Amino acid sequence: MMQEAETIYSEVPASVSGWIASLRLQQTIANRDVAADRREVVHPADGEVIAECPEAKVSDVDAAVDAARDAFPGWAALSWSARRERLEAFADALDRNRKALAFIIAAETGRPLRRAWTEVFFSVDYVRTIAAQELPETVYDRAGLRARLVHRPLGVVGAIAPWNAPVVLAVAKIANALLAGDTIVLRPAPQTPLSALFMGQLAREVFPAGVYNTITGDASVGAAMASHPGIAKISFTGSTGTGRLIAAAAAPTLKKLTLELGGNDAAIVLDDANPADVAACAYAISLQNAGQFCAAIKRLYVHEKLYGAVRDRLLMLMENAAAGSPFDAATTMAPLQSQAQLDRVKGFADDAAARGCTVHQQPFAAGTKGYFMAPALVEGAAAGMPLVDEEQFGPVLPIMPFTDEDAVLALANEGEYGLGGSVWSGDVDRAIALASRLESGSAWVNQHGAYNASLPLPFAKQSGLGMDYAHFGVLEHARAMLINARV
Ligand code: NAD
Repeated sequence: MMQEAETIYSEVPASVSGWIASLRLQQTIANRDVAADRREVVHPADGEVIAECPEAKVSDVDAAVDAARDAFPGWAALSWSARRERLEAFADALDRNRKALAFIIAAETGRPLRRAWTEVFFSVDYVRTIAAQELPETVYDRAGLRARLVHRPLGVVGAIAPWNAPVVLAVAKIANALLAGDTIVLRPAPQTPLSALFMGQLAREVFPAGVYNTITGDASVGAAMASHPGIAKISFTGSTGTGRLIAAAAAPTLKKLTLELGGNDAAIVLDDANPADVAACAYAISLQNAGQFCAAIKRLYVHEKLYGAVRDRLLMLMENAAAGSPFDAATTMAPLQSQAQLDRVKGFADDAAARGCTVHQQPFAAGTKGYFMAPALVEGAAAGMPLVDEEQFGPVLPIMPFTDEDAVLALANEGEYGLGGSVWSGDVDRAIALASRLESGSAWVNQHGAYNASLPLPFAKQSGLGMDYAHFGVLEHARAMLINARV
C-alpha cells in the first residue's frame, strides 16, 4: 500500500471540490442521513472554499445520543468476537476507500497527498490492531470463595476528535469504544468534518443502526456532549485548556474521561548521537508537517559538541521545503490548519525575534497562497520565553545548546506538560537511563513521537488523563465488575 503513495497523484479527480460535492456528505444518525444547515469548509493550502458540510446544532446531540442509547443493548449483547468481526469489516471498508479518504484528508487539511495516504494506512492498521485486543478476566480463587473481575460496556461514548490527524485519531476512539461494547457519537473538529462524514457513511454498511453516529457542529456541540446525561464517557483529543473545560462540564454526571491533550516535548541530543538521524526526525515531525502533531519535538536541546552539526543539517533540509497544492507531488510542506493557527504560530516566531533570537527561515516563493508558514529554526531561545514554555503547534523549532546532562534534564522536565520526550545517543543504555528520568508519558530513545496502536500511550502532568492504545484504550471504555460468590 505504501508503494502506491506516489502513484495516486495521477488519480486525483480533475475537480476535487466537484468530486466531494458528488459524495453528498451528510451526518449519520441511526444509519440515516440527517440534513442540517450547510456551511463552508476551507482548503488550508489556498484559503478557498473546497466544500460545504452540514452544521449540527446543539439539538442534534439529543437525536444522536438517543439513537446510540437505543442501539446500545443489542450491540453490548453481541459477543466480543462478533464485535471484532464488525470492526474488521470497518477496516476493510476504510481500506477499500483508501484513495477517497486520502483525497478528502488532503482537501480538508491541505497536507501533501502522500502524508494523507500514510494517515489512511495507519488508520486501517489502528482499527485492526485495536480490534485484536482482549480484556482478560481476573479470577480470585480462594477457599469458600469464587470471585472474578469482568469487564462490561459503559454505554454511549462521545468522541471529540481533533483536526491534526482527523482520521487516525477518530478511528482509534471508535475502535476502542465499539470493541468494548459501547456505542458512539463522533463529532469531528469543525475544520475537518469531511473525512468523518464520509466514514460515517461507510459505517452504515457495517454496523447496526445507531451503533456509530456522526454529527458536526462547533464548540457548543462539543460542550453539549460533555454535559449530556445520556453520554457515559468522553474521549477527547485537543488542547489542555479545552480538556479542563470538558472535565468541568462532565463532572456533574461523573463521566469517564480519556483526555489526550497538549505537549511541549523536549528532545535531548547527547554528545555521541547521530546528527543526521536527529535532524531527519525533527524536520519530518516538527517542521514539514507544520508542527501539527501533539508529540512533535517542540524543544530541541543539543550537546554543544553536536550543536552545529544538527543545526546545519536542519537548515539544509529546510531549504527543500516546498509549499503548494497537496495534490501536486512537488509539494512537501503542510500548511497550518487555519488563519488563526497561522497567526498564533507566527506570533511565537515574531516574539522570539523581538527578544533577540536568530530566526532562520527561508521564505516560500512569491505567490504562495493559503496558511503556509516557512519552517523556522530559532537560535538563542531559552526557558522563560513563550516559544520554549508553551506549545507552539507549528513549524517554529527552538534549538538550544547544553553541556550538563542533569541541567538539561531539569529544563526538559520544566512546565505543565508531560506528553513525551526523547534522548538521542550512540549508547542506548546511557540514553535509556536518562530517558527514564523524563517526567513524561512516553520516553523515546533515538526516535520521537513513535506511536503504534499495539503500544500503550500514557500521559503525565497536564498532558492528559487515562491511557490509550494496546488493550488499555479498550479497558478505559469498559467498566469493571466484580462477581463474588461464596461457595
Ligand atoms: P481546542 O482544544 O480549542 O479544540 C479542540 C476541539 O474541542 C474542537 O473540536 C473544538 O470545537 C472543541 N471544543 C472547544 N471548546 C469545547 C468545549 N467547551 N467542550 C467540548 N468541546 C470543545 O483546539 P484547537 O483550537 O482545535 O487547536 C488549538 C490548540 O490545541 C493547538 O494549538 C494545539 O496546542 C492543541 N491541539 C492539540 C492536539 C493534540 O493532538 N494533542 C490536537 C489539536 C490541537
